[in-house]
Amino acid sequence: MRELKLDIHSRHRCRIDIGRGSLKGCGRLFRQAGTLKRVVIITDSNVGPLYGDALMQEIADAGLQADIITFPAGEEHKNLQTAAGIYRQLGSLYADRSTAIAALGGGVVGDLAGFASATYLRGLPLIQVPTSLLAQVDSSIGGKTAVNHDRLKNQVGAFHQPVLILSDSATLDSLPDSEYINGMAEVIKSAAIGDAGLFSLLENNSAEVAGRQPELVDEVIFRSARVKVAVVSADEKDTAARQLLNFGHTIGHAIETCSGFSFSHGQAIAIGMVKAARLSCSLGLLGLPDFQRLKNLIETFGLPAELPGIDPARLIEAMRHDKKISDGKLKFVLLRQPGEALVSGDVDFSDIEKVLAAGDE
Ligand code: NAD
Repeated sequence: MRELKLDIHSRHRCRIDIGRGSLKGCGRLFRQAGTLKRVVIITDSNVGPLYGDALMQEIADAGLQADIITFPAGEEHKNLQTAAGIYRQLGSLYADRSTAIAALGGGVVGDLAGFASATYLRGLPLIQVPTSLLAQVDSSIGGKTAVNHDRLKNQVGAFHQPVLILSDSATLDSLPDSEYINGMAEVIKSAAIGDAGLFSLLENNSAEVAGRQPELVDEVIFRSARVKVAVVSADEKDTAARQLLNFGHTIGHAIETCSGFSFSHGQAIAIGMVKAARLSCSLGLLGLPDFQRLKNLIETFGLPAELPGIDPARLIEAMRHDKKISDGKLKFVLLRQPGEALVSGDVDFSDIEKVLAAGDE
């Protein structure tokens, strides 16, 4: 088991336990996480049946009352209506401020249960128990919670930092391959923006990581989570350094939107990373061999690198509506070398369009 600490301006501290089997005996950590009397687990219909009972038992063994609320799995349920159903059930359970919420599941559960815990009774303590690769390396860390609203993703939300994150890689054993590969895109992003050693590790052990060799999976999760912790500690609320986490996402979000979400998030940001790296080359920041390394790595994990048949002009139009635009300027994340990225406020849409239209060869 390995531990990370997220410290935000010494005003909020969060312990992150990472490793295979970290859920065994975790009730003790729940007790230490605050003056809690009870824990309500919020989970989805896929994850609840797999790990809900075991987590309930751990909590009960620690002398805390445990209850569980389950909602239907899927991004389409990450909305205010599901949140309202959760508020109602928390009311029926007489949840009060000595109640913690434990979000057991992927990023959808983390965001929705996090949002419910940020808002119910003006805030209940939150424990994240991420069970997808994406949630373990990314979404459970950093305190962003949200629901979708009026077809806009993450439109309504709050910053609400968890008091504890328990990342047990054994839960990934039941994660479908497509979801594992989806999470690998965020792992590659973490390596690209902040850990050259992780980047090399992925290059040198791609078959073992893709085959989910347990020690390597633990190492990959730990190192990716460490990148996220470093970035969030420097900038909790997305004003500067945290924007590095958007590497590949500006173009990726546009691909998701313009393809009617026929690409998974991981596939879309994989293409977005390749294009952002290509742009970094054409701006003279990144060498061609390093661009090729990123592209190869993405393809090695079965992620796409080429733009689907979408008109670049449509992608540019979608980018103009991106949340990251302020004063008409786009904040764009560029790569200097694997492990080092920068946020630029000077990228012209015309340069992006040229790269999108050009292809990679
Ligand atoms: P998800 O939560 O929908 O999980 C993917 C699928 O895998 C679901 O069907 C889920 O039920 C299932 N699943 C999860 N863990 C499982 C397990 N161990 N075994 C079997 N099945 C399992 O999707 P995700 O990719 O984990 O997360 C995507 C969400 O995360 C999006 O809503 C996105 O907006 C959000 N997100 C949030 C942040 C943040 O900082 N808050 C960052 C990135 C993404």
